[in-house]
Amino acid sequence: MQAVVEIRDLRKSFGDNEVLSGIDLDVHRGEVVCVIGPSGSGKSTLLRCVNLLEQPTAGTVRVVDHEVTDPDCDIDRVRRKVGMVFQQFNLFPHLSVLRNCTIAQDKVLGRKGAEADRVARMHLERVGLEDKVDAFPAQLSGGQQQRVAIARALSMDPELMLFDEPTSALDPELVGDVLTVMRRLADDGMTMLVVTHEMAFAREAADRVVFMDAGAIVEEGAPEQVIGAPREARTREFLRRVL
Ligand code: ADP
Ligand code: MG
Repeated sequence: MQAVVEIRDLRKSFGDNEVLSGIDLDVHRGEVVCVIGPSGSGKSTLLRCVNLLEQPTAGTVRVVDHEVTDPDCDIDRVRRKVGMVFQQFNLFPHLSVLRNCTIAQDKVLGRKGAEADRVARMHLERVGLEDKVDAFPAQLSGGQQQRVAIARALSMDPELMLFDEPTSALDPELVGDVLTVMRRLADDGMTMLVVTHEMAFAREAADRVVFMDAGAIVEEGAPEQVIGAPREARTREFLRRVL
Protein backbone atom coordinates (compact mmCIF):
# COMPACT_ATOMS: atom_id res chain seq x y z
CA MET A 1 0.00 0.00 0.00
CA GLN A 2 1.21 3.45 -0.88
CA ALA A 3 1.68 5.93 1.96
CA VAL A 4 0.00 9.27 1.36
CA VAL A 5 1.34 10.54 4.68
CA GLU A 6 4.57 9.29 6.19
CA ILE A 7 5.61 10.79 9.52
CA ARG A 8 8.91 9.84 11.13
CA ASP A 9 10.09 10.86 14.60
CA LEU A 10 8.15 14.10 14.40
CA ARG A 11 8.89 16.52 17.21
CA LYS A 12 7.40 19.89 17.90
CA SER A 13 8.16 22.27 20.74
CA PHE A 14 6.69 25.62 21.58
CA GLY A 15 9.52 27.22 23.53
CA ASP A 16 10.61 24.57 26.01
CA ASN A 17 7.21 22.86 25.92
CA GLU A 18 7.58 19.72 23.80
CA VAL A 19 4.07 18.94 22.55
CA LEU A 20 5.00 16.21 20.04
CA SER A 21 7.75 13.94 21.22
CA GLY A 22 8.55 11.54 18.41
CA ILE A 23 5.52 10.60 16.33
CA ASP A 24 5.67 7.85 13.69
CA LEU A 25 2.55 7.49 11.61
CA ASP A 26 1.62 6.41 8.09
CA VAL A 27 -1.66 6.93 6.31
CA HIS A 28 -2.08 4.80 3.22
CA ARG A 29 -4.07 5.59 0.13
CA GLY A 30 -7.78 5.10 0.78
CA GLU A 31 -7.24 4.65 4.48
CA VAL A 32 -9.21 6.42 7.21
CA VAL A 33 -7.17 7.05 10.35
CA CYS A 34 -8.89 8.57 13.39
CA VAL A 35 -6.80 10.25 16.08
CA ILE A 36 -8.31 10.33 19.55
CA GLY A 37 -6.94 11.53 22.85
CA PRO A 38 -7.35 14.06 25.64
CA SER A 39 -7.38 17.79 25.12
CA GLY A 40 -3.84 19.17 24.91
CA SER A 41 -2.29 15.86 23.83
CA GLY A 42 -1.02 17.35 20.55
CA LYS A 43 -3.64 16.12 18.06
CA SER A 44 -4.17 19.48 16.34
CA THR A 45 -0.45 20.19 16.28
CA LEU A 46 0.14 16.82 14.61
CA LEU A 47 -2.45 17.57 11.94
CA ARG A 48 -1.07 21.08 11.41
CA CYS A 49 2.45 19.72 10.94
CA VAL A 50 1.20 17.64 7.99
CA ASN A 51 0.61 20.71 5.85
CA LEU A 52 3.13 22.86 7.66
CA LEU A 53 0.67 25.17 9.36
CA GLU A 54 3.13 24.41 12.16
CA GLN A 55 6.81 24.04 11.45
CA PRO A 56 8.10 20.79 12.98
CA THR A 57 11.09 21.09 15.32
CA ALA A 58 12.58 17.77 14.11
CA GLY A 59 11.70 14.69 12.12
CA THR A 60 10.36 14.20 8.62
CA VAL A 61 6.90 14.46 7.14
CA ARG A 62 6.21 13.23 3.62
CA VAL A 63 2.87 14.02 1.99
CA VAL A 64 1.96 12.60 -1.44
CA ASP A 65 5.59 12.09 -2.34
CA HIS A 66 6.82 15.47 -1.18
CA GLU A 67 8.98 15.82 1.87
CA VAL A 68 7.33 18.89 3.36
CA THR A 69 10.02 19.16 6.02
CA ASP A 70 12.65 19.69 3.30
CA PRO A 71 13.37 23.45 3.25
CA ASP A 72 13.29 23.34 -0.57
CA CYS A 73 9.79 21.86 -0.66
CA ASP A 74 7.21 23.97 -2.48
CA ILE A 75 4.60 23.72 0.26
CA ASP A 76 1.90 25.47 -1.78
CA ARG A 77 2.02 22.65 -4.31
CA VAL A 78 1.51 20.13 -1.54
CA ARG A 79 -1.25 22.09 0.18
CA ARG A 80 -3.18 22.07 -3.09
CA LYS A 81 -3.51 18.30 -2.69
CA VAL A 82 -4.54 18.44 0.95
CA GLY A 83 -8.03 19.52 2.04
CA MET A 84 -8.40 20.69 5.60
CA VAL A 85 -11.60 21.06 7.60
CA PHE A 86 -11.43 22.73 11.00
CA GLN A 87 -13.73 23.03 13.95
CA GLN A 88 -14.50 26.57 12.79
CA PHE A 89 -15.72 26.49 9.22
CA ASN A 90 -13.95 29.71 8.10
CA LEU A 91 -16.26 30.35 5.15
CA PHE A 92 -16.10 33.75 3.45
CA PRO A 93 -19.20 35.47 4.91
CA HIS A 94 -19.62 37.88 2.00
CA LEU A 95 -19.57 35.18 -0.68
CA SER A 96 -22.34 32.81 -1.73
CA VAL A 97 -22.06 29.10 -1.02
CA LEU A 98 -21.21 28.48 -4.66
CA ARG A 99 -18.53 31.17 -4.73
CA ASN A 100 -17.05 29.86 -1.50
CA CYS A 101 -16.53 26.62 -3.38
CA THR A 102 -15.14 28.16 -6.57
CA ILE A 103 -12.83 30.93 -5.37
CA ALA A 104 -9.84 28.71 -4.59
CA GLN A 105 -10.39 26.66 -7.75
CA ASP A 106 -10.19 29.95 -9.61
CA LYS A 107 -7.25 31.53 -7.73
CA VAL A 108 -5.15 28.42 -7.06
CA LEU A 109 -5.98 25.96 -9.84
CA GLY A 110 -6.90 28.46 -12.54
CA ARG A 111 -10.18 26.62 -13.01
CA LYS A 112 -12.73 29.23 -13.92
CA GLY A 113 -16.33 29.96 -14.82
CA ALA A 114 -18.66 27.15 -15.79
CA GLU A 115 -16.12 24.40 -15.12
CA ALA A 116 -15.46 25.58 -11.54
CA ASP A 117 -19.21 25.93 -11.01
CA ARG A 118 -19.79 22.41 -12.28
CA VAL A 119 -17.20 20.94 -9.89
CA ALA A 120 -18.54 22.96 -6.95
CA ARG A 121 -22.14 21.95 -7.65
CA MET A 122 -21.13 18.31 -7.91
CA HIS A 123 -19.57 18.42 -4.43
CA LEU A 124 -22.36 20.53 -2.94
CA GLU A 125 -24.76 17.88 -4.19
CA ARG A 126 -22.57 15.23 -2.58
CA VAL A 127 -22.93 16.95 0.80
CA GLY A 128 -26.67 17.47 0.29
CA LEU A 129 -26.63 21.23 -0.26
CA GLU A 130 -27.37 21.57 -3.97
CA ASP A 131 -30.36 23.78 -3.11
CA LYS A 132 -28.20 26.24 -1.13
CA VAL A 133 -25.79 27.37 -3.85
CA ASP A 134 -27.04 30.96 -3.75
CA ALA A 135 -27.32 31.24 0.03
CA PHE A 136 -24.79 33.08 2.18
CA PRO A 137 -23.06 31.38 5.12
CA ALA A 138 -25.03 33.34 7.74
CA GLN A 139 -28.26 31.90 6.33
CA LEU A 140 -27.12 28.34 7.03
CA SER A 141 -26.95 26.22 10.17
CA GLY A 142 -23.55 25.30 11.58
CA GLY A 143 -23.90 21.80 10.19
CA GLN A 144 -24.71 23.13 6.74
CA GLN A 145 -21.76 25.54 6.91
CA GLN A 146 -19.46 22.68 7.83
CA ARG A 147 -20.76 20.68 4.88
CA VAL A 148 -20.03 23.66 2.62
CA ALA A 149 -16.50 23.70 4.06
CA ILE A 150 -16.17 20.02 3.14
CA ALA A 151 -17.52 20.65 -0.39
CA ARG A 152 -15.12 23.56 -0.74
CA ALA A 153 -12.17 21.35 0.18
CA LEU A 154 -13.34 18.57 -2.17
CA SER A 155 -13.66 21.04 -5.03
CA MET A 156 -9.85 21.26 -5.04
CA ASP A 157 -9.55 17.51 -5.88
CA PRO A 158 -7.53 16.69 -2.77
CA GLU A 159 -5.62 13.45 -2.42
CA LEU A 160 -5.86 13.70 1.34
CA MET A 161 -8.41 15.22 3.70
CA LEU A 162 -7.50 16.40 7.19
CA PHE A 163 -10.31 16.95 9.69
CA ASP A 164 -9.72 18.58 13.06
CA GLU A 165 -12.74 17.95 15.29
CA PRO A 166 -15.14 18.98 12.52
CA THR A 167 -18.25 18.47 14.65
CA SER A 168 -17.09 19.91 17.98
CA ALA A 169 -18.56 23.36 17.43
CA LEU A 170 -21.96 22.03 16.32
CA ASP A 171 -25.19 21.69 18.23
CA PRO A 172 -25.74 17.99 18.92
CA GLU A 173 -28.63 17.65 16.46
CA LEU A 174 -26.41 18.90 13.62
CA VAL A 175 -23.52 16.51 14.18
CA GLY A 176 -25.13 13.53 12.43
CA ASP A 177 -25.42 15.11 8.98
CA VAL A 178 -21.74 16.07 8.97
CA LEU A 179 -20.66 12.60 10.10
CA THR A 180 -22.86 11.04 7.41
CA VAL A 181 -21.07 13.10 4.78
CA MET A 182 -17.69 12.06 6.19
CA ARG A 183 -18.71 8.41 6.29
CA ARG A 184 -19.78 8.58 2.65
CA LEU A 185 -16.48 10.21 1.74
CA ALA A 186 -14.63 7.41 3.50
CA ASP A 187 -16.73 4.82 1.65
CA ASP A 188 -15.84 6.53 -1.63
CA GLY A 189 -12.18 5.82 -0.91
CA MET A 190 -10.90 9.21 0.24
CA THR A 191 -7.71 9.13 2.28
CA MET A 192 -8.59 10.77 5.60
CA LEU A 193 -6.77 11.74 8.79
CA VAL A 194 -9.44 12.71 11.30
CA VAL A 195 -9.10 14.09 14.81
CA THR A 196 -12.40 13.39 16.50
CA HIS A 197 -14.20 12.96 19.81
CA GLU A 198 -16.93 10.97 18.08
CA MET A 199 -16.11 7.45 19.20
CA ALA A 200 -19.03 5.92 17.32
CA PHE A 201 -17.75 7.50 14.11
CA ALA A 202 -14.18 6.34 14.79
CA ARG A 203 -15.43 2.85 15.51
CA GLU A 204 -17.45 2.57 12.31
CA ALA A 205 -15.51 4.61 9.80
CA ALA A 206 -11.86 4.24 10.78
CA ASP A 207 -9.56 1.61 9.37
CA ARG A 208 -7.19 2.46 12.18
CA VAL A 209 -7.52 4.39 15.45
CA VAL A 210 -4.57 6.18 17.02
CA PHE A 211 -4.71 7.11 20.69
CA MET A 212 -2.42 10.01 21.64
CA ASP A 213 -1.51 11.24 25.07
CA ALA A 214 1.06 13.86 26.10
CA GLY A 215 2.56 14.21 22.62
CA ALA A 216 3.04 10.53 21.90
CA ILE A 217 1.11 7.68 20.30
CA VAL A 218 0.22 5.38 23.16
CA GLU A 219 -1.67 2.78 21.18
CA GLU A 220 -2.92 2.23 17.64
CA GLY A 221 -4.76 -0.46 15.81
CA ALA A 222 -8.13 -1.53 14.49
CA PRO A 223 -11.02 0.38 16.05
CA GLU A 224 -12.49 -2.73 17.63
CA GLN A 225 -9.14 -3.24 19.37
CA VAL A 226 -8.24 0.31 20.45
CA ILE A 227 -11.78 1.37 21.36
CA GLY A 228 -13.28 -2.05 22.02
CA ALA A 229 -10.43 -3.74 23.89
CA PRO A 230 -7.68 -1.21 24.68
CA ARG A 231 -4.37 -2.65 25.86
CA GLU A 232 -3.00 0.41 27.61
CA ALA A 233 -4.23 1.76 30.93
CA ARG A 234 -4.14 5.35 29.64
CA THR A 235 -6.38 4.43 26.70
CA ARG A 236 -8.83 2.70 29.02
CA GLU A 237 -8.92 5.68 31.34
CA PHE A 238 -9.54 8.09 28.44
CA LEU A 239 -12.32 5.94 27.03
CA ARG A 240 -13.93 5.62 30.45
CA ARG A 241 -14.22 9.40 30.52
CA VAL A 242 -15.58 9.90 26.98
CA LEU A 243 -17.81 6.89 26.40
P1 ADP B 1 -5.09 18.93 21.16
O1 ADP B 1 -5.48 19.27 19.76
O2 ADP B 1 -4.82 17.48 21.35
O3 ADP B 1 -6.06 19.46 22.17
P2 ADP B 1 -2.93 20.81 20.68
O4 ADP B 1 -2.12 20.23 19.59
O5 ADP B 1 -3.89 21.90 20.33
O6 ADP B 1 -3.69 19.64 21.46
O7 ADP B 1 -1.99 21.39 21.80
C1 ADP B 1 -0.96 20.63 22.40
C2 ADP B 1 -0.17 21.52 23.33
O8 ADP B 1 0.51 22.49 22.56
C3 ADP B 1 -1.02 22.28 24.33
O9 ADP B 1 -0.32 22.30 25.55
C4 ADP B 1 -1.10 23.65 23.73
O10 ADP B 1 -1.23 24.63 24.72
C5 ADP B 1 0.23 23.79 23.02
N1 ADP B 1 0.16 24.68 21.85
C6 ADP B 1 -0.57 24.46 20.73
N2 ADP B 1 -0.39 25.46 19.85
C7 ADP B 1 0.47 26.33 20.42
C8 ADP B 1 1.06 27.57 20.02
N3 ADP B 1 0.80 28.10 18.80
N4 ADP B 1 1.89 28.19 20.87
C9 ADP B 1 2.19 27.64 22.06
N5 ADP B 1 1.67 26.48 22.52
C10 ADP B 1 0.83 25.83 21.71
MG1 MG C 1 -7.18 20.17 18.98
